Amino acid sequence: RVMIGNKVDENHVNYETAYNMLTGIRFTVSRCNAKIDRELEDSDFTARNKFSFDITGNELTPSAKYDFKFKDYAPWVFRHLRAGFDIDPADYLVSLTSKYVLSELGSPGKSGSFFYFSRDYKYIIKTIHHGEAKFLRKILKDYYNHVRENPNTLLSQFYGLHRVKIPYGRKIHFVVMNNLFPPHLDIHRTFDLKGSTIGRDFKEEDLEKNPRATLKDLNWLRRNLHLEFGPTKKAAFVSQMEKDVALLQRLGIMDYSMLIGVHDLLRGNTEQLRERTLKVYQPHHEQGEDQNIISGLARTPSKLETAKRARELRDMVKRQRPVPMEHAVDKMPAEAHRTSLMFYADNGGYQATHENDMPGEVIYYLGIIDCLTRYNIVKKAEHFWKGFGGNEPQISPIPPVRYGDRFNKFIAGITMSHERAEKQRRSITID
Ligand code: ATP
Ligand code: CA
Ligand code: CA
Repeated sequence: RVMIGNKVDENHVNYETAYNMLTGIRFTVSRCNAKIDRELEDSDFTARNKFSFDITGNELTPSAKYDFKFKDYAPWVFRHLRAGFDIDPADYLVSLTSKYVLSELGSPGKSGSFFYFSRDYKYIIKTIHHGEAKFLRKILKDYYNHVRENPNTLLSQFYGLHRVKIPYGRKIHFVVMNNLFPPHLDIHRTFDLKGSTIGRDFKEEDLEKNPRATLKDLNWLRRNLHLEFGPTKKAAFVSQMEKDVALLQRLGIMDYSMLIGVHDLLRGNTEQLRERTLKVYQPHHEQGEDQNIISGLARTPSKLETAKRARELRDMVKRQRPVPMEHAVDKMPAEAHRTSLMFYADNGGYQATHENDMPGEVIYYLGIIDCLTRYNIVKKAEHFWKGFGGNEPQISPIPPVRYGDRFNKFIAGITMSHERAEKQRRSITID
């Protein structure tokens, strides 16, 4: 998969879905956030609200371009989660819905999920299977409590869980989560590590065709790489990972990975960011029409109305309007990554350190992703294949506790400063 999006324009097969997702998010998130904050109750974890959108609009919902139904899961829980993750409510809405711009990430993988970026690259929408959505709701309280006790969690930060359905269409569940990678810095290499070697190899010769490909465990080992953290940062990182993995083990989850993006400070930003931004879809409609969608008006508004809508939006978000991506790029570094969260505090990531804890030459962008797969689902698939053709599956799934232990061991094992790695290498050579 590549990290550059393909535009989702009006001719794109998924344009309608993308539009409906954003319209639903915009409506439900502002609806919940408009209320005075309160403590969570048990019923908040199972709450779900259903809304119907249509082209005429009604007392409850504004008019939309298409007819669709939108289901919003546990809005109060996600509101609190977003707050805990330091997400400014206005920022969230602006990033996702101030313009209906999304870009689709590569082609869908084995799982059939689709990935979309918000136009400022901060958020990812991932479509998930019904089973995964059900499971997330089941574990939501455990996840919530974990995040409260571990604000620096490395687990995917979930900001919303929703469902869209068009008439006669299928139900599409999706989550909104953090993009681990920064909008303003080149990621020179990407790895998706599981701590397994079976089938965990990206064909090196395909790298030429696709230099941004996500590499795997064997590619990492072949390059003799390390997550170069000195003692202090290593201790913080490994201890958080172990706490996060303990939760996943307890919940019977497996098949997750440590996603790692490497930004080499010595190489800096060589790629043209503009190139990246140009690939992000700019909708066909003009500024006026954008406002039209936002405000849900059915006709093209006058200049005055447009200005008024713009002002309203501006007031709503209580800060400046988002600048178009191509202008925003220069402004992003300082702006985009103010966070107190430990592993995202160094320019959005976690900077390498030397053995003496002095800063290193690389920034890592990392987190534990794809953590909604329960063991029994994989087991079922395995049994299916076994019963089907009698062929052994390529990857034999191991139970969650063993999966987690192997994961921890692998990641902790590759985490050491450059100096320590050198020393280890030399002592091995001497032996
Ligand atoms: P499969 O189940 O086949 O592994 P999936 O559809 O569940 O695939 P993920 O494993 O969640 O997909 O993610 C696939 C790829 O998408 C990752 O390897 C990574 O390149 C990118 N990706 C996923 N989540 C994020 C994220 N939060 N930030 C940045 N990139 C991400
Ligand atoms: Ca995965
Ligand atoms: Ca998956």
